[in-house]
Amino acid sequence: MAIEVATDYLMIIDGRSVPSTSGQWLEVRSPATRELVGRVPAGSEADVDLAVAAARAAFVDGRWHRKLMPERVAILERLAALIDENADDLARLETLQTGTAYKLRRESDFAFASDNLRFFATAIRHLEGKAAAEYTGSHTSMVRREPIGVVGQVAPWNYPLWMAIWKIGPALAAGNSVVLKPASATPLTTVRLGEIALEAGIPAGVLNIVTGRGDVVGAALAAHDDVDLISLTGDSETGRRIQALAAGNVKRVHLELGGKAPFIVLEDADVEAAARGATAGALINGGQDCTAATRAYVARPVYDAFVARTKELFESVRVGDPFDASTDLGTLISQAQVERVDGFVQRARADGATVVTGGVRPEVPGLPDGAFYAPTIVTDCAQDSEIVQKEVFGPVLAVLPIDSPEEALEKANDTKYGLAASIWTRDVFRAMEAARTLNFGHVQINDHLMVTSEMPHGGFKQSGFGKDMSSYSFEEYTQVKHVMIELTGEPEKDWHYTIFGDAKG
Ligand code: NAD
Repeated sequence: MAIEVATDYLMIIDGRSVPSTSGQWLEVRSPATRELVGRVPAGSEADVDLAVAAARAAFVDGRWHRKLMPERVAILERLAALIDENADDLARLETLQTGTAYKLRRESDFAFASDNLRFFATAIRHLEGKAAAEYTGSHTSMVRREPIGVVGQVAPWNYPLWMAIWKIGPALAAGNSVVLKPASATPLTTVRLGEIALEAGIPAGVLNIVTGRGDVVGAALAAHDDVDLISLTGDSETGRRIQALAAGNVKRVHLELGGKAPFIVLEDADVEAAARGATAGALINGGQDCTAATRAYVARPVYDAFVARTKELFESVRVGDPFDASTDLGTLISQAQVERVDGFVQRARADGATVVTGGVRPEVPGLPDGAFYAPTIVTDCAQDSEIVQKEVFGPVLAVLPIDSPEEALEKANDTKYGLAASIWTRDVFRAMEAARTLNFGHVQINDHLMVTSEMPHGGFKQSGFGKDMSSYSFEEYTQVKHVMIELTGEPEKDWHYTIFGDAKG
């Protein structure tokens, strides 16, 4: 892989490409080669002020939310079409900045991203609510669902463009103005998204992209008095900080945070299907996925067969150059992430865990500096151990035996997270009992990882609150207004005496 020319990418504020008022830049380097991929402005608080002011002005004059609905829908659909048209280049840029396999970006993320956007663009036409009626007998009441105003959004590095779409899609479809901050390691495709959005016809000021550090730009957005909602996809600790910063003006908060998904395999499961599901589920995007399968609880009678087959499959995964068509797994996001992941594995080993496969940094010919980590399975670890409880965010699966379905459900729920879970069984009663008992926002039966535009995605517990995807996302990005119309025209009302004067007759 080679980078032809490293480019400077500018922020987008009020429809214009601009550098930062700070005059500073952040470098984006390939985790595979360490080469410079591009630079972005290191945004400052002053840049956030400018972007929020532009977003507010756009909201106040209604250039977006007062546009005819068919026009707004058409612009968002044009944006989806432009993402499809530019998918090769965008996927290449995504691969350069994340190091993950090109095939994942091109064939998976981007296809989903444009479908998600098309869904939001049309779903906004079908909002439903309480019927208008004369609930008091003398007034007509109706509900309006309105955009909230200026929305600040902070995105993660694992699926940079895709997560940006999950953020801007429902926010823009609902008529809000947006200031979006991409992760500092992976801002390039988001800047391109902002440029393409202007090309699609999104008016100036409606979608602003401010690049920079989380503790500067993200924090300024979360604390800003003129931002009405702050939405984060990121780590639970970042969520806590953002929630505290948002308290200043009591802004709304939408948090999609970390996960530690359990993967339960009961005795009657199809072990081949479960082993394949665990391999895909644990290794997706190098395990840098909030819904990744991280803790497998496997019934003792099938435990050995499951571990043996999953080991075979993990070892069949081809780690290599992200642009090589035969590569399954590219790099992690950085060498620092490799250190972090390896730290978890080595501490587990020191605590008595068995590393069944992996636990090493594979050498990839021609890429000596690449942030590679081998697909890793760890067994013989305790339920309360760090590797079972904390989010590793790498290609690591811990496998634990269980003696009953009840034990599996109890251990699966024994976590501070609550994003995704799966159970593998052919027994419909067991499956439905698990669906009810598992305390996670998304429970899958006989699969792991699947998401769809039409259904909500979001966490329980410290995985956050609020939904991405589906019509539920409009509950985050709209507010409900009750409008009441008096119908009688009578100046004097029966109930006025409770405040002044005497009751009639
Ligand atoms: P992160 O929390 O480090 O960063 C997320 C974003 O927050 C980045 O843009 C970052 O710059 C910004 N940020 C960092 N510190 C900040 C601060 N003090 N104030 C404001 N903003 C700040 O997370 P990450 O490492 O980029 O992403 C990985 C995390 O995201 C994992 O925990 C993963 O589980 C989670 N995630 C969750 C979902 C979901 O849907 N629940 C989806 C993808 C990723």
